[in-house]
Amino acid sequence: MLQSSLFTKTRKEAPKDEVSKNADLLIRAGFIHKEMAGVYSYLPLGFRVLEKIANIVREEMNAIGGQEVSLTALQDKNVWEITGRWNDEIIDVWFKTNLKAGGELGLAPTHEEPFTSLMKNFIRSYRDLPLYTYQFQTKFRNEIRAKSGILRGREFLMKDLYSFSKNEEEHTIFYEKMSKVYHDFFEKVGLGEHTYFTLASGGSFSKYSHEFQTVTSAGEDTIFVCEKCKMAVNKEVREKQKMCPHCKNEDLTEKTSIEVGNIFNLGTRFSDTLDLTYLDDKGKPQPVFMGSYGIGIGRVMGTIVEVLADEKGIVWPKSVAPFLVHLISVGESEEVKTASQEIYDALNAQKVEVLFDDRDARAGEKFADSDLIGIPYRIVISEKTLAEKSAEIKVRATGKTEMRPLADLKKDAIAVLDVF
Ligand code: ATP
Ligand code: MG
Repeated sequence: MLQSSLFTKTRKEAPKDEVSKNADLLIRAGFIHKEMAGVYSYLPLGFRVLEKIANIVREEMNAIGGQEVSLTALQDKNVWEITGRWNDEIIDVWFKTNLKAGGELGLAPTHEEPFTSLMKNFIRSYRDLPLYTYQFQTKFRNEIRAKSGILRGREFLMKDLYSFSKNEEEHTIFYEKMSKVYHDFFEKVGLGEHTYFTLASGGSFSKYSHEFQTVTSAGEDTIFVCEKCKMAVNKEVREKQKMCPHCKNEDLTEKTSIEVGNIFNLGTRFSDTLDLTYLDDKGKPQPVFMGSYGIGIGRVMGTIVEVLADEKGIVWPKSVAPFLVHLISVGESEEVKTASQEIYDALNAQKVEVLFDDRDARAGEKFADSDLIGIPYRIVISEKTLAEKSAEIKVRATGKTEMRPLADLKKDAIAVLDVF
């Protein structure tokens, strides 16, 4: 993509009322636009990142047998009344509205009820189980505090998967698989080192659930980390037990963190109330045993910014970066223009995702913008580099800089970049 044709521009300052680092950087670099408190639109660069994160999740969910669907945001009050969750004291973040034709509906803050009631149409016997279904869906929550940028939106994209099993044993096998998949996912998006598998209280059905908590000062949660096991417990669990649930170590370190994902044993909480049953092999009706598994896609994006950014700007891991390469031409000479265009064409031909800063701007401005945007590799072409028939390659994360022959880049750019 040509940067001259990108409609977003970098800017010196984010909106005055913006206090979070992730929103400040993402707005200034042109990834998102603030519509109002807690409500952000995704612009070309930001949407590419969001899609990359979602696609990594999608691959993982498909690999463990998830079937992707897309349920509605508009919610039928009746279903939620049956489970008791239409009540604003039980779910205190509802957005509700009146219909012109009479009656009331809500904007989905989560989707246990609609998934459970959907499955009543399809689950009949033990032969239909287990089954797993998921979606990427916009959730709406009337959050009281919305000062954390895209970490806490009032409208945000969530991946939610729901598992339907015959019994607890079958559920547990999947639950454990999913916790492994979540570990792999946070590793892939560059948060592995900072993210702790955290024991949390389970709510109504099971004693425990698990959260994936990323350590960052931007977070609103507190966890207690066992450095030996790389596990943590959250505040509520800590109040009940003082030691690491795994190795019994009592020396836990308190850290500020954000919940980036969670996995939950729902048991028969929803299947009992909404009457979702299957016939077992003796023809006897049994309640379906459920689980839910969430990841906040936008929150993961914001967390990556919070955790990996440096004083110059954003630092994207390769897996989720909007582009792999930021190609920058420095100088107005025909020579530089031709050589840059040739490298741009060669990278495109090799299917390397590249943003080409072809603007007539000063070198310093281009470099500052490039640091702010945070693309993993920068390739600079100037009269100086051309004198050596080379380009300068700089790694955003480490600052490592080296010259490489143009001919090598034209032949196999990935091979050249991979050695950095
Ligand atoms: P929190 O305690 O941070 O409010 P939650 O317990 O309400 O989170 P869940 O209802 O379990 O979160 O939602 C599943 C996932 O959705 C969370 O793990 C998080 O990644 C994401 N998420 C929750 N609330 C928001 C929000 N307001 N904005 C963006 N992402 C969110
Ligand atoms: Mg919440």
